[in-house]
Amino acid sequence: MATNRTFTMIKPDGVENGHIGGILNMITEGGFRIVSMKLTQLTVADAQKFYAVHSERPFFGELVEFMTRGPIVAAILEKDNAVEDFRALIGATNPADAAEGTIRKKYATSIGENAVHGSDSDENAAIEGAFHFAGREQF
Ligand code: ATP
Ligand code: MG
Repeated sequence: MATNRTFTMIKPDGVENGHIGGILNMITEGGFRIVSMKLTQLTVADAQKFYAVHSERPFFGELVEFMTRGPIVAAILEKDNAVEDFRALIGATNPADAAEGTIRKKYATSIGENAVHGSDSDENAAIEGAFHFAGREQF
């Protein structure tokens, strides 16, 4: 069953490079309502758990190091068909393959440092959102 919420992070590269405002602008212009949002930082344990599905991949250590090296913006977003529509807005994992007009086309610098995360399923959106935000923080 499709829900109308997804979870995103502006990754450490996006924050470091000064793109919080630009990315949030693309998100709101894309028709998403911000339900919850904060600047925070992942611990190594958080990042290992978050990307556990990739734990056997050769880039896992690099990914965990990258995701923990500085603050991120965590947010829950709402829109009809949120998960699929947000994946379309962020574009392909590798910015070289990302379509024009997508967040990664504009702000990602490499396949590893790609500016933004988007949940890949309704189930994961709920798990990821609940990890960062209490019910009273969801507006
Ligand atoms: P995310 O889950 O962050 O939204 P995604 O769903 O587009 O990204 P995944 O396949 O889930 O892509 O990979 C998770 C993250 O791992 C990527 O966003 C990227 O930061 C990193 N990553 C994926 N593939 C590679 C690779 N070949 N080399 C280096 N890093 C990679
Ligand atoms: Mg993913």
